[in-house]
Amino acid sequence: MKNLLLALTLLPISSLAFSQANDRGEVYEPVPALVTGVIDGAPPSDAIVLFDGSNLEAWNRTADDAPARWLIEDGAITVQSGVGTIKTRQAFGDIQLHVEFRPTDVIDGSGQGRGNSGVFLHSLYEVQVLDSWENDTYVNGQAGSIYKQQAPLVNVSRPPGQWQSFDIIFKAPVYSSAGELESPAYVTVLQNGVLVLNHFEILGATFTESPEYAARCGPYSQEQRIQDCSGKMPITLQDHGQIVSFRNIWVREL
Ligand code: MG
Repeated sequence: MKNLLLALTLLPISSLAFSQANDRGEVYEPVPALVTGVIDGAPPSDAIVLFDGSNLEAWNRTADDAPARWLIEDGAITVQSGVGTIKTRQAFGDIQLHVEFRPTDVIDGSGQGRGNSGVFLHSLYEVQVLDSWENDTYVNGQAGSIYKQQAPLVNVSRPPGQWQSFDIIFKAPVYSSAGELESPAYVTVLQNGVLVLNHFEILGATFTESPEYAARCGPYSQEQRIQDCSGKMPITLQDHGQIVSFRNIWVREL
């Protein structure tokens, strides 16, 4: 009887949905969605797969929106020099992004000329892809850097020809309706499972002479410093004229 009374007393509490903490500090709602995690390298159940080894249907060439034409071979895509940088057809805001990359083991350059590509978040902020195995260059341009803004915390690069990974958490910049920057972008990056960038505040676009956020909102234009302020932009993979492969690319919208 005592237990029954106790159960009846507790019932309304456990069945009520709390969007705020109750007087015991407990929160019951919203309930986190059920998601399968990464299993044997396969994406989580709520991920958007951008490349699973079979086709480039999620990608276009950045220059003219034509279908992407990178080489698909053995479950990977490889930069075809001169074919151009590619971008996702879908635009994204805040994301968790997984991408695996492999600089070629055919060494015919040094510094920035060795295994150079890049993952551009929001099309504007480059997480550098480079063969940084025993390859000196400026540290804010080595693999895992935000290009010319921030060096990685450590160099965990593997020898060329080996697969590596980036796991990236990106917080998109926020603009007011008038186009004023309200909150900058932030990025956290794990390379090969090791933290290399910890909630770094991105200083602005990485391809300009000095990092800057766009001056105003409108249809995106690099030349005129106009930013798409919808909060969503494509992800791009850079054609830097060097042989780098990618595979198992997926993204989760946050
Ligand atoms: Mg690059």
